[in-house]
Amino acid sequence: MPTSNTSRRNFLRYASLTAAAAPFLGEAHFARAAQLSGQVGGKQQEVYTFGVNHGLPADTVLINANENPLGPCRSACEAIGGIVHAGGRYDIYNHNEILINTVASQMGLKPDYVAVYPGSSEPLHYTVLAFTSPSRGLVTGDPSYEAPMMGAMVAKAAIARVRLTADYAHDPKGMVTADPNAGVIYICNPHNPTGTITSKKDILWMLENKPKGSILLVDEAYIHLSDAESVVDQVAAGKDLIVLRTFSKVYGMAGIRCGLALGRPDLLRKIEVYNGGNAMPVTALVAATASLNDSGLIAERKKIIGDTRRETIGWLKANNYKVIGDSQSNCFMIDTGRKGKTVITAMQDKGVIIGRTWPIWPLAVRISVGTPAEMAKFRTAFKQVMDSTPAAAAAEVHDPTPHLQDLRTARISA
Ligand code: PLP
Repeated sequence: MPTSNTSRRNFLRYASLTAAAAPFLGEAHFARAAQLSGQVGGKQQEVYTFGVNHGLPADTVLINANENPLGPCRSACEAIGGIVHAGGRYDIYNHNEILINTVASQMGLKPDYVAVYPGSSEPLHYTVLAFTSPSRGLVTGDPSYEAPMMGAMVAKAAIARVRLTADYAHDPKGMVTADPNAGVIYICNPHNPTGTITSKKDILWMLENKPKGSILLVDEAYIHLSDAESVVDQVAAGKDLIVLRTFSKVYGMAGIRCGLALGRPDLLRKIEVYNGGNAMPVTALVAATASLNDSGLIAERKKIIGDTRRETIGWLKANNYKVIGDSQSNCFMIDTGRKGKTVITAMQDKGVIIGRTWPIWPLAVRISVGTPAEMAKFRTAFKQVMDSTPAAAAAEVHDPTPHLQDLRTARISA
């Protein structure tokens, strides 16, 4: 239970928010909802299922949720195997503390600047709940990863969406001036969905020039796949930011669930109240520590995923398809020149599940980078779809509300 008055206030606020609102949502849910929203028949319902592969043939290519097809590394699997026998107990061997100390020493942080969660979706959502309100807004890119907007809707906070720059990166000036009462400015670096980079110089400038009382929420979910410079050193320097890391991407542990919130202890305390100190699965803790201690892993996986991305984008460009921006991540956007949702459905009919569209770019679809074999299937299916005659494109209005509603609902066969 919360101890301080502030914590108690936060806790009570959370209790009233959750009583009236949806649970927090993340990539697995968005991917599933987008996949189902193209289907006809059945009824539209709010769903909170997380599997993205319900009822699909086993050879279906899943490149819709920015997962890592390589999965957990060998040492992580061995660590999980080695701890399973102790799974009847909570964390009696202090694996949470061991992970925190490993992170702290590798990142140059004091241990109390590190908090462990089952994935980064939870601290992302909690940060938005803790630092936004009806009087403190959320500032985010347009397009951007939708989860912070979901949190802001729960907190009844204003949402300012700021267009990306001509290079499809975050617009630092636009974002710090978008809302003088901002509570949270969300920077996803590399960006989801474009995979573009926001420079450290720009983020430092934003830290110095953001509205008083706001924090930067810097989501480094994909940072290891890129050459982007981390801003974790700013956490160590005690600045007003929270940096998020996840083990779901380069480490391939989306289904194992582990993530980190890095920030000053006073900031971390404001978000931890929403989690209630829930115990972590010991399997996730040991797998995460083993992954961090696997010294060659990041470089190896960055190369594998980067090579596959470059090969796929090279093929797309050679065939005159339009790729948006210069991705350094495990996803990228293609401007298909036709209604993106129809492309998604046509690809699904060919056994390739691709990612979603965003309201600002209704003709563009997001593609996650799979294995070379999966991307070969993607190329064949994509060419067939694009060689077919497009259905007449209906005019779309750039309004995010139906998009966010769509991501909360899915079509259920009754
Ligand atoms: N942040 C971004 C930008 C993401 O794309 C995702 C998932 O795709 C997450 C956070 C959350 O991932 P997880 O909860 O698996 O750590």
